[in-house]
Amino acid sequence: MLKTTFPGINVGSSALGFGCMRLPMADGKIDETEAIRMIRHAIDNGVTYIDTAYPYHGGESEVLVGKALKDGYREKVTLATKLPMWLVKTHEDMMRYLDEQLAKLQVDYVDFYLLHAMDAGKFRLAKELDYQRFFAEAMAQGKIRYPAFSFHDDAKTFLNILNDYDWKMCQVQMNILDDNNQATLKGIQAAHEKGVGVVVMEPLRGGLLANPPTEVVKLYESWSVRRSPVEWAFRYLYTMPGVVTILSGMSTMEQVQDNLRIFDVPQGESLTEADRRLYSEVKATYMACTKTRCTGCRYCQPCPMGVKIPNIFQGYDTTLLRHGGSFKEGYGRIAAENADASRCVGCRKCERACPQQLPIVQYLKEIHSECQA
Ligand code: SF4
Ligand code: SF4
Repeated sequence: MLKTTFPGINVGSSALGFGCMRLPMADGKIDETEAIRMIRHAIDNGVTYIDTAYPYHGGESEVLVGKALKDGYREKVTLATKLPMWLVKTHEDMMRYLDEQLAKLQVDYVDFYLLHAMDAGKFRLAKELDYQRFFAEAMAQGKIRYPAFSFHDDAKTFLNILNDYDWKMCQVQMNILDDNNQATLKGIQAAHEKGVGVVVMEPLRGGLLANPPTEVVKLYESWSVRRSPVEWAFRYLYTMPGVVTILSGMSTMEQVQDNLRIFDVPQGESLTEADRRLYSEVKATYMACTKTRCTGCRYCQPCPMGVKIPNIFQGYDTTLLRHGGSFKEGYGRIAAENADASRCVGCRKCERACPQQLPIVQYLKEIHSECQA
């Protein structure tokens, strides 16, 4: 396992982190036995970073992580969870949520506690409620070791937040397609220069990069070095200066084993000029053959009118990627469940929740009219 270190605090880590937002499911619930087996297998094979959050799996992810980290596993890992700022109304709420999360996790403290999904609006609220005093109180009480934030907004907002406090870690979205999106490469560079360790989320863009279109497969196959699409996607990140840990939301034991294999690389690998050319061609190809690039995170759900936004967007993009003709048939099935775009009343609740800031209402209209034509 590739080993890394969080700068400033000198905390060792594995380059691969276990993200607990896409755990295996059985009968509509987390498959507890399998999820615990996967997490412990990852830890037994060198993973030392476990990431969860208040809303993952409808609040059940933290409970599962608590169970997985029993029997001596807690001591082997750096544990991170996140404060759901969108639910916080008062300064006291912050400690109240933290206490609830510690109880669910069955631990006395977490290593990193993140303000979750910061954007300009949520950060304004965090400042109004004196988030720095909260972190000071929580650290003094031994409930958290290091303050951190996760982020979904633009580069300017990222720098504003980064420079507002003595953060010990930031979690950003980065992958082959997002070099100039959200925090951007420049944001990661700024964090690196400030000595703030970067944890990366969405390394596979919600699975999009793991299942490339034919043109991208051909590109990869034309390269002198053979790597799987997932390997290429992770390599883009673990060679990036400033990136400490890359979160993978693993759903099966096969994915755990494949990821462990991919991160079993020598220290100090870096990208070649040829690698960079390949990534730029891969990105251009993806951009040309996808529309929404929805990651399937489901933060927009539930829609008050029952519109299944991620199913529509991901179904549409998958059809485009596969050149499978029209999305009409798939859209028809969603319509049969009364979950298609015609039910949308334009309230934009979904757009306020979408970390990718997608123009959801507009995309829904466009896909609807295309599928009705
Ligand atoms: S804008 Fe439409 S799709 Fe979005 S939450 Fe409102 S009704 Fe649902
Ligand atoms: S539309 Fe946005 S919030 Fe909804 S699943 Fe896609 S990326 Fe996530």
